[in-house]
Amino acid sequence: MADREKRFVADVMLGRLAKWLRLIGYDTLYYKKIEDSQLIRVAMREGRILLTRDAQLVKRGGFQSLFIESGELEIQLAQVIREARLKPRLKASVLCPLCNGELQTVKKEQVRGLVPTYVYAAQRDFSRCPRCGKIFWKGSHWQKIERRLRDMGYPAS
Ligand SMILES: [Zn+2]
Repeated sequence: MADREKRFVADVMLGRLAKWLRLIGYDTLYYKKIEDSQLIRVAMREGRILLTRDAQLVKRGGFQSLFIESGELEIQLAQVIREARLKPRLKASVLCPLCNGELQTVKKEQVRGLVPTYVYAAQRDFSRCPRCGKIFWKGSHWQKIERRLRDMGYPAS
């Protein structure tokens, strides 16, 4: 399986992890409400790796899964990167953290008036999701995780 083809579906406990997997370039489905049986069906039908904090779910077998032990986002992300052998692409985040759509880079001038003034003043790079219309930039939370990933030895680009 080519690295970019690794895809995930996260259980209801793992919303933030799902966002971050999208931010580092990995197609990840997430539903706020979904039954275990449906999660399994999605994982099987689409060949996605099921990410779950439920150890019982992992034991059922018949699909690829990863049991996420930690409740802490950074540790969860590190675990998935390590165990699924991902190659995070920190600079070229391509998927919308909210809806999994494919982000497009936009010129700074295009987002004038659409983002808070302090953000417009402080940030240089913006992207927009054509699916849900949200505009993104790399704020302080991004920098924290980026630093953490870099500490773990992943390149920043
Ligand atoms: Zn979106």
